[in-house]
Amino acid sequence: MAIDVRQQAEQQPHTAAQPHEIRDVYQTTCCVVGGGPAGMLLSLLLARQGIQTTLLEAHADFDRDFRGDTIHPAIMTILDEIGLAQRLLDTVPHTKVHRILPPLPGPNPVAIDFSSVGGRFPYMTFMRQVEFLEFISAEARRHPAFQLVMGANVRELLESDGVVRGVRYQSADGWHEVQALLTVGADGRFSRMRQLSHLPPPIKTSPPMDILWFRLPKEPGDPEGIVGGFHMGRGLIMLERTDHWQLGYIMPKGTYQTLHAAGLDAFRQTIAGIQPWLAGRVHVLQDWKQCSLLAVESDRLPRWYRPGLLLIGDAAHVMSPVGGNGINYAVQDAAAAANILSRPLATGRITLRDLAAVQRRRDWPTRITQAIVNQIQDRVIGPAVRNSGRMGVPLPPGATFLLRVPLLQRLPLAWIAYGIWPVHLSPSVRVARG
Ligand SMILES: Cc1cc2nc3c(=O)[nH]c(=O)nc-3n(C[C@H](O)[C@H](O)[C@H](O)COP(=O)(O)OP(=O)(O)OC[C@H]3O[C@@H](n4cnc5c(N)ncnc54)[C@H](O)[C@@H]3O)c2cc1C
Repeated sequence: MAIDVRQQAEQQPHTAAQPHEIRDVYQTTCCVVGGGPAGMLLSLLLARQGIQTTLLEAHADFDRDFRGDTIHPAIMTILDEIGLAQRLLDTVPHTKVHRILPPLPGPNPVAIDFSSVGGRFPYMTFMRQVEFLEFISAEARRHPAFQLVMGANVRELLESDGVVRGVRYQSADGWHEVQALLTVGADGRFSRMRQLSHLPPPIKTSPPMDILWFRLPKEPGDPEGIVGGFHMGRGLIMLERTDHWQLGYIMPKGTYQTLHAAGLDAFRQTIAGIQPWLAGRVHVLQDWKQCSLLAVESDRLPRWYRPGLLLIGDAAHVMSPVGGNGINYAVQDAAAAANILSRPLATGRITLRDLAAVQRRRDWPTRITQAIVNQIQDRVIGPAVRNSGRMGVPLPPGATFLLRVPLLQRLPLAWIAYGIWPVHLSPSVRVARG
C-alpha cells in the first residue's frame, strides 16, 4: 500500500475518541518513538539525508544506569561508514576490551582474543550509554531535518483507513500530535508502540536466569577485559570499565527475593566465593539500591510492521543479555531501515513491501542469534545455575573444543562482534545531504 505524504496532510487522521485537548499538531516525514540506540541512530541516518525526522523520547535525559554500555565492532563499523567512529573514540571516555576469560571448568583458563575477528575495530568498546546517545544526538542536531523532543511520552497512535499516520504524546505542558508518513516504534523492551500496534503477539522464550548488576572498584593487578566466574551454581560476569568493574550476578530466574531476604552480607560472601580476589572490596556494597535487577527476557514479534508503522530494536525483539546482542541488533536494525527506507521516505511514498523488506533483512539474523542464545541458556547457563556443586560452566565437549582451539575461537567471537549477516550502510546512505 502506498501512502502519499501530501494526501496525508489533507486528510484528518483521527483516533476513535479524542478526549484530549491537543496543544499543537506537527507534520513530519518520519516520526521515531524512543531515543535509545535504535531510534537515535535511525534518526541521525535519516536526518543526514535531509529527511524530516522527529524523534520523541519519553525521558527528560538519556541517563539510564546499567542499560548496556557495549559498543560492538559492528556498531563501530557502521559509525565509521559515516565518519563518526574515530570522533566518538577521541571525545567520549571508554575502555577497549580485547579479551574474554570465560568461566570454563578445569585448571587452565582460556583467554579469547578479539584481535582474531579482524576489521578496524577488533575490540569491544565500553562506553556509558548516556554519553554514546548524547554524542549521536549532538551529531543529529547538526542537521536541520532533525527534531528531538525530550519528555514526550507517546500514548496513542493516529490511524485512519487502517494506516498509522502518526502519534499523540503527552509532555509536561499537555498533549501534542505528530502526523507522519512513517512512524517507527523504537521504544524498547516495554514498547508502548508494540501494545498499540495490534500486531500478532510475540513468540517468547524462557531464559533460566536473572542478572543483578552492580559496581566494585578496580585495583592494580586485576585481570583485564571480560571475566567470567562460576561457583556453587552462581555466576558472575565482570566487565572492565574505565575506573571500576561492572559486575553481573547470575542467579536462577525469580530468585531475587530470596537473595534479598538472605541479606547483603550473605550476598557479599557469595561474590567473594566466586572471585576470591574481590573479597577485600565487597564491603563497598552497602545498600541494595547500588544494584539493578535485570529480569532476563527474550522474545520476537512474528511481524514487525503494518501500514504506516515499523517496529525495530527491542520493540520488535527483546534480546537476552547472553552475548550482549541487544544494542548491536538494535543499531543494525536502524542501519537496515535507513538503507531500505531512505529513498521511499525521500520521495514521499512508502509501501508495505518496503517495510516488509526491513523485517526480511533483519528477521533471520535475529532468529538465528536467539536460537544460539537459547541453546547456551538451556545447555550451559541453565545446568550451571541448577547444578550447585560444580565449579565452572559445564560446556558440552564440542563447545569446549571450539573455545580452546585458537582458529575455531574466531567463530563465537565473530558472532559476538558482528552478529549474523552484519549490516553495512549503503553508499547512498553514507553521504550527508542535509
Ligand atoms: C539492565 C540492562 C542491561 C543491559 N545490558 C546490555 C549489554 O551489556 N549489552 C547489550 O548489547 N544490551 C544490553 N541490554 C539491552 C539493551 O539495553 C537493549 O537491547 C537496547 O538498548 C535496545 O535498544 P532500543 O533502542 O531498541 O531500545 P531502548 O534502549 O530500550 O530505548 C528505548 C527508548 O524509548 C523510550 N521510550 C519508551 N517508551 C516510550 C514512549 N511511550 N514514548 C517515547 N519514548 C519512549 C525509552 O525511554 C528509551 O529511551 C541491557 C538491558 C538492560 C535492561
